[in-house]
Amino acid sequence: NTLDRVLEEKIEELKEQKLFRELTVLENAQGPRVVINGKEVINLSSNNYLGLATHPKMIDEAIKATRELGVGSGAVRTIAGTLKIHQELEEKLAEFKHTEAALVFQSGFTCNMGVIEPLLTKEDVIISDELNHASIIDGIRLSKAARKIFKHSDMESLDEKLKESQDFRLKLIVTDGVFSMDGDIARLPEIVELAEKNDAFIMVDDAHSSGVLGSNGRGSVDHFNLNGRVDIQVGTLSKAIGVLGGYIAGSKKLISLLKHRSRPFLFSTSHPPGVAAANIAAIDVLLNEPELIETLWNNAKHLKKGLNQLGFDTGKSETPITPVIVGSGALAMQFSDELLSEGVFCTGIGFPTVPQDKSRVRTMVTAAHTKEDLDIAIDTFARVGKRLGLI
Ligand code: PMP
Repeated sequence: NTLDRVLEEKIEELKEQKLFRELTVLENAQGPRVVINGKEVINLSSNNYLGLATHPKMIDEAIKATRELGVGSGAVRTIAGTLKIHQELEEKLAEFKHTEAALVFQSGFTCNMGVIEPLLTKEDVIISDELNHASIIDGIRLSKAARKIFKHSDMESLDEKLKESQDFRLKLIVTDGVFSMDGDIARLPEIVELAEKNDAFIMVDDAHSSGVLGSNGRGSVDHFNLNGRVDIQVGTLSKAIGVLGGYIAGSKKLISLLKHRSRPFLFSTSHPPGVAAANIAAIDVLLNEPELIETLWNNAKHLKKGLNQLGFDTGKSETPITPVIVGSGALAMQFSDELLSEGVFCTGIGFPTVPQDKSRVRTMVTAAHTKEDLDIAIDTFARVGKRLGLI
């Protein structure tokens, strides 16, 4: 039938473009070493930056809340799905982020889908970094505002787009805090200056900065001492925080509007109590165990230095996301496959996620890795890299 034929064509197309991949299945818990196809390998692919996915205190709190309150919340937030524990998490997040208020969403993805459309109309304009995450791009598409793209972290390009935008009512600048494919940090101090000069406002997506940058992992705004000067901070609870969810931190007015108008918030069921409880416990871990963040950064420096000394091109990374850029997509996939068969799990990333000739394997280090894990990984990169003529 027609559906079958169309599906087959689309799958064939993916195969021709060498983009067809089976999902990699982990046979144990998320952690520094995982079991794939029955074999233990060093995991350099997760966003579990601080190892919190298996933190004992968070597991205990999740179990306790689940026993007391059940496995599901039973409704969307605006009907009967706001439990006290959801409110408690939001109050804790607002306090942690030094903002008036915060609102939790099902994921970081849904935050970005739900935050722009309620704010902007066709009288307004969005000015977005060209390397912003897919969820921001989709969120922008849902809005009726005009769109402009500035060259990645290029302040001249941003300035130009702002100058072209004088006649719009609201001007929203959107950027990732840390860019997920290159590991570079947004130039927030300059962005803030340009925004203030041009009467624009700012949204920053701290998916890869939450728990990673700033004091106790408060994110990129805190990292640059810009508290109070960035209007919308999006955070994720799914990466360094180790659980699931996203949040928006900002003014009471912003949060109040989103509660009434943000579609993923209005029309999708809230988190299970266990998820909320684990997230609350995670913020306590950030406050009480800041040494985890220090270990993460020490591990990141160690791995980056090892890879650079071998002669690999790690691009312009400034964070625990360290790409190893190899060139063609086929080569990146082969590199990733051979690393895995020698015990290092490190995802290959090609076009369209990154430019055709900048395909890479992306290493993501965590606080849970030991020096031994990282040294084994570096040795494996050396062996496979030499074999493939990369170094
Ligand atoms: N923004 C960025 C920059 C991301 O990298 C991601 C995760 N891939 C998200 C948003 C979505 O976050 P979540 O996984 O919580 O949906």
